[in-house]
Amino acid sequence: MTAPTALISGAGIAGSAAAYWLRRAGCDVTVVERANVPRRGGQTVDLRGAGRTVARRMDVFDEIVARSVEQRGLAVVDDDGRVRASLQVDAFDGNGMVSEIEILRGDLADVLLAAAADDVEFVWGDSVVALTEHAGGVTVEFERSPARTFDLVIGADGTHSAVRAAAFGPETRFLRPLGGYQAWFTAPAAPELDGWYLMHRAPGGLVSSLRPGRLPGETKASLGFAGGPVDVDRRDGAAVRALLRERFAGVTGWKVPWLLDAADAAPDLVFDSIDQVRMDRWTIGRVALVGDAACSPSSLTGMGTCMAVVGAYVLAGELGRARHDHRAAFARYEEIMQPYVAQAQELPPGGMAGYAPRSRFGITLSTLSMRSMTRWPVRAIAARFFAKADAIDLPDYTADRAG
Ligand SMILES: Cc1cc2nc3c(=O)[nH]c(=O)nc-3n(C[C@H](O)[C@H](O)[C@H](O)COP(=O)(O)OP(=O)(O)OC[C@H]3O[C@@H](n4cnc5c(N)ncnc54)[C@H](O)[C@@H]3O)c2cc1C
Repeated sequence: MTAPTALISGAGIAGSAAAYWLRRAGCDVTVVERANVPRRGGQTVDLRGAGRTVARRMDVFDEIVARSVEQRGLAVVDDDGRVRASLQVDAFDGNGMVSEIEILRGDLADVLLAAAADDVEFVWGDSVVALTEHAGGVTVEFERSPARTFDLVIGADGTHSAVRAAAFGPETRFLRPLGGYQAWFTAPAAPELDGWYLMHRAPGGLVSSLRPGRLPGETKASLGFAGGPVDVDRRDGAAVRALLRERFAGVTGWKVPWLLDAADAAPDLVFDSIDQVRMDRWTIGRVALVGDAACSPSSLTGMGTCMAVVGAYVLAGELGRARHDHRAAFARYEEIMQPYVAQAQELPPGGMAGYAPRSRFGITLSTLSMRSMTRWPVRAIAARFFAKADAIDLPDYTADRAG
């Protein structure tokens, strides 16, 4: 039997994990990534629950732990930098708002890419523009490369997925805006962090934060704001920087002016709206979506990386188990992942308003609720929220291979 060919769009977290597992499920894998080189940006992301199990099964868990960033916890600071509420990293057994294993997104992307690289063809600097399914497979048209036909096409190309647009329709049908925006970037060292992830809120729904990086001399920063749609191209760095300056104008507390300067100088600024992706189904014909493209839970939940890694594992594992019968495999993939994703997409209490309160009163309330998080009765509610990463009965496809 010849190996089925699979095209994966996106060499991010879901794409690299899918490449690794699809190779092991016996597919010939090609990955197309729009960027010219692997994208290393982003802050720390956490790999929890079943995500850690998948990393162990990929044999990359030790590498992830070795590259993880040591953090002491999350603290909310006021205009003068005084801590108003804090949550230690070991609260909730190391699975709280900051988890005990946090790795820079760029480092995780590198580890997964290295694990996937053997026997996988990578096409950098290109993008899917159209898909046509027929009896012989799916013919894919690209922006630059000539058209090719594959047995399967996997969209792992993030919230603004090109594969989803080509196979399911325009993103406005699936993107649920949560009413805010976030910028992530690398900033210079800030000794006052002392291992803490510090967060500051200002009236108007303005959130700034700074957390440790892995390399000496750098920290990872974020500027976010609540609000309706903005008329800015998220890839236009100059326009994004001007927008951040406009939104944060007049905020002089904590390190906000320093952060705006750091954003101006940052080589890796990423900016996007805070959205969830909601779809009834993630597969159609020979096309399947995985990770943020299928089901982004948004950065407010802290579950996106876990969904990406676990989704890639289940999708490929079911293809192997069904001996490449994509109809049967895709149905099982959705059946296994849908309940897990539904829980992951539940927002933390308060949702966007909890993350970016608009008034001074709202900021005080949110700070108080963080202080009470480790105390009865809030502790039990919070513990249930943080336990979601484990809420899946993960099949062991590695045992299939051994057998
Ligand atoms: C540079 C960057 C920085 C990020 N920083 C953070 C962060 O700090 N905190 C956080 O919570 N989340 C961050 N995220 C999102 C986070 O990685 C995801 O929410 C999560 O890990 C799920 O991964 P994913 O692979 O589904 O999506 P992503 O990690 O977003 O990967 C999608 C990949 O697809 C590629 N792509 C997009 N469009 C196309 C196309 N048309 N053709 C081919 N390839 C395409 C992208 O370049 C990217 O490599 C970041 C994402 C990126 C790309």
